[in-house]
Amino acid sequence: MSDILGDIFSKCITSVKGIGAKRAKLFNKLGIFNVGDLIFYFPRDYEDRSCVKKIAELEDGERCTFIGIIDSKVREKHIRKNLSIYEVSIGDDTGKITAVWYNQHFIKNVFRPGEKYIFYGTVLKKNTGLEIQNAIYEEENKKDKLMGIVPVYPSTKGLTQNIIRSSIKAALEQAFGKLEEVLPEWVKRKYNLLDLDYSIFNIHFPKSNEDFLKARYRLVFEELFLLQLALLSIKNTLAKDKKAIKFKGYREKIEKFINNIGFNLTNAQRKVFDEIERDMESDKVMNRLVQGDVGSGKTIVAVIALYKAVINGYQGALMVPTEILARQHFETIQHLFLKEGIKVDLLVGSQRTREREEILKDIEEGRTDVVVGTHAIIQDNVKFSRLGLVITDEQHRFGVRQRATLSNKGDNPDMIVMTATPIPRTLALILYGDLDISIIDELPPGRKPVETYVVNSSMRDRVNNFIRKKVLEGRQAYIVCPLIEESDSMDLKSAEKLAEKIKKEDFKDLNVGLIHGKISPKQKDSVMESFLKGEIDILVSTTVIEVGVNVPNAAVMVIENSERFGLSQLHQLRGRVGRSEHQSYCILYNEGKGKVAKERMKAIKENNDGFVISQKDLEIRGPGEFFGTRQHGIPQLKIANLYSDMDILKKAQEAALELINRDPDFIMEEHFLLKKKIINEFGDKINILSLN
Ligand code: ADP
Ligand code: MG
Repeated sequence: MSDILGDIFSKCITSVKGIGAKRAKLFNKLGIFNVGDLIFYFPRDYEDRSCVKKIAELEDGERCTFIGIIDSKVREKHIRKNLSIYEVSIGDDTGKITAVWYNQHFIKNVFRPGEKYIFYGTVLKKNTGLEIQNAIYEEENKKDKLMGIVPVYPSTKGLTQNIIRSSIKAALEQAFGKLEEVLPEWVKRKYNLLDLDYSIFNIHFPKSNEDFLKARYRLVFEELFLLQLALLSIKNTLAKDKKAIKFKGYREKIEKFINNIGFNLTNAQRKVFDEIERDMESDKVMNRLVQGDVGSGKTIVAVIALYKAVINGYQGALMVPTEILARQHFETIQHLFLKEGIKVDLLVGSQRTREREEILKDIEEGRTDVVVGTHAIIQDNVKFSRLGLVITDEQHRFGVRQRATLSNKGDNPDMIVMTATPIPRTLALILYGDLDISIIDELPPGRKPVETYVVNSSMRDRVNNFIRKKVLEGRQAYIVCPLIEESDSMDLKSAEKLAEKIKKEDFKDLNVGLIHGKISPKQKDSVMESFLKGEIDILVSTTVIEVGVNVPNAAVMVIENSERFGLSQLHQLRGRVGRSEHQSYCILYNEGKGKVAKERMKAIKENNDGFVISQKDLEIRGPGEFFGTRQHGIPQLKIANLYSDMDILKKAQEAALELINRDPDFIMEEHFLLKKKIINEFGDKINILSLN
């Protein structure tokens, strides 16, 4: 049977009534090649034309439907060379209205006095009377009306809504009763999901709002269910046949270590460490994402996990994206581990060969317990003797492949990835479906929220005075002049000019450090180092200041052209200050105008929680734009909305888990079609992720 089905779906769209070679080309532009593509081409919106009004009830500016009798011949007026107007009078028993079309020459031959039509469009109340412009119309007694709830499709030039609608209608007629139902019966029953046939028809041509909602629910569920199944299968493949290290508890020892840190862990840090411990002690390989807002204290959680690995007799590795961050983590960790007799080594690109060779030898022969470093750690010549725990910090800078390279240096070591990029949970589930997620959702006590101000360049003098005042009080400041594209030389020039001006004119009496595109990574590190030591008062930078860098004495963050950053990025930058008991300030120069720019600035000013901010970012920008989902390898979703379909996602996930538990390899007959579809749709992604 399924051969026949396959045939219908994979038939070229020219087999659909009304689609010839020319139209087919236009459909191709929309990514529609066969009948299946057409049927699964979902509307982006709907117009409700189902509520029919009398002419006297029509209101100014309203989009609505009315029925009327043609009262006049079509009048044709040539306004100028490329503009002709066609007008006709329409009436019903309550009033009159004029319909106007621009340049639609065929209108002349459409209407005859006395005929009855349905019209839909935006009504205007002019002093000459009611008018409707470029109305959509249809003969009143026509069967199969398009005047109910009408789908609106993403389109392309030359392809009208009516053509798309009638083509889809024709395709649906051809395929009706022959759509392949992939959802197993038990899932449909448990989650009250309608049949595919019915749902597909109603997503295109819903009879009522209720039908639409039910149809959409089923289709969204299916899409997210398949996605979750794909992700869970990946996770399964990764975990399969891998015998993990079963770390021992050593609870007392760890408790003692924690008591010597110098502060109390927050409850959130405790909770996350518990989750990590449970994973470490189990026989499954840990693949855990630790998410926490900037400053929530992820490092120390990593340190305790490393401690646990080391006292179990294993080595640990911490990989970070930049040298400065590596050095900083190295110092923190060494400080805590030295008194425990644990040997920590740093591995970064700028080390001299001699020094490096010695470290490599210590790592390979097992004298080194913990390695902190950059990409230098994943070079071929780095060999561990018994790597048991691998941690990557600020993981969005590392790809799946780099994570895998690192973990391949051990024998199925446990893995933690840490990120300060707070992502709404819905997205996290999809982005990191191959990972378990822990969230540090609490900041250490005593932190004062950063005070945020949005200003424009007319306030430059006041802002500069403020910075100077803070520096004289002993604080330090960052000034970021953004450079959006590294390759944009115009941008580079203006950012560097501004930076030079700040250094040479605005603050020539203070110590100003400058980081820009032309200085070497080594110079950059040395400037950062001086800033960290307090030798520099103001750090001006044309690039984004390294994520994760911790300079507690810095209390002012100024961001030029802040309209050019994403909200989450602004929040990250702001997170560089507010890391001590000093009240901190973030000043955003904003030249962006318009509603979205205002909303964005309001969101960043009023919120201090990274998760809330990323949620806002998602709301304001829409899920499509939200940090380029394509780049992250998420398949483009056809119908589900990651922002508003959270509830359905949860159910879909629960169902997917149940299925995977029952039938991890999809060997039951009722799961065959499901497996086929997942491989069809997510095959690429599965391959990408299982490249370990
Ligand atoms: P992030 O999560 O951004 O990586 P860090 O780990 O760099 O944050 O921690 C930020 C600062 O907070 C560090 O100076 C760290 O020592 C401090 N810190 C972490 N946890 C606590 C805590 N429970 N109580 C007090 N200070 C803490
Ligand atoms: Mg950090």
